[in-house]
Amino acid sequence: MPEGHVIHRLASTLNSEFAGHDVDVSSPQGRFTTEAAQINHTTLTQAVAYGKHLFIDFGAHQPAHIIYIHLGLIGSLRFSDLAIPTGQVRLRIATSSRAADLRGPQWCKLITDDEKDSVIDKLGADPLAPRADPKPSFTRVKRSSKPISTILMDQHIFAGVGNIYRAETLFRLGLNPQRRGKDLTNDELEAIWDDLVATMTRGVQVGRIDTVRPEHMPEAMNREPRVDAHGGEVYVYRRAGLACYVCGTLIEEKKIDGRNLFWCPTCQA
Ligand SMILES: [Zn+2]
Repeated sequence: MPEGHVIHRLASTLNSEFAGHDVDVSSPQGRFTTEAAQINHTTLTQAVAYGKHLFIDFGAHQPAHIIYIHLGLIGSLRFSDLAIPTGQVRLRIATSSRAADLRGPQWCKLITDDEKDSVIDKLGADPLAPRADPKPSFTRVKRSSKPISTILMDQHIFAGVGNIYRAETLFRLGLNPQRRGKDLTNDELEAIWDDLVATMTRGVQVGRIDTVRPEHMPEAMNREPRVDAHGGEVYVYRRAGLACYVCGTLIEEKKIDGRNLFWCPTCQA
């Protein structure tokens, strides 16, 4: 599943390509035809990401019409120079020269402003949201007996954080994934938040997840770059059985709540 930085990049591309334009909205596959007809030939005002949720606002309507998308595990939103739609395109947004095609989303709905607010109200602080306030999230962490590795995946506490960023941030801070939320200090919580903001912001900028510090990059360590479909230089994610770049201990892996967690048993003792 894409992590929050991917959704923020999609919002940014939608804004640069389509915001301010009267757009054609259609559902080549047919499953969003009725909704698409309601906003076809109107102005796309802005796209906004919050966590892993994407909102595309067509502001000429009152109450506002907003397309609400969650990509889920297999969804994609791809941009092209008006390629003929192929496959199951749920939603196409197009100008005379560019198209955005949505395929296989977990959901794609037409909602109002109030419904959008209520979605965002239920989500935790997004490290990529401007002026995000993490304090309510910290309060929730400190009331929890769950391990911090589980808490970091809870979208109601930290929106947009996925399996890669949670593992990497815990490594970068030397935190044991099993530490319980209520045992974390304020300084540790602040450090987690600051690290998520830094690493995820870099993810938005470069379009891949890089979490390795300069001294552990391939050039600095004279090692081969990482080869992985997810891209990016990381410390622990999908590196089970390989040597830790910091201490040489073999990275461990364990399935928790259906997701694989990776950590260094020495650096994160
Ligand atoms: Zn280590």
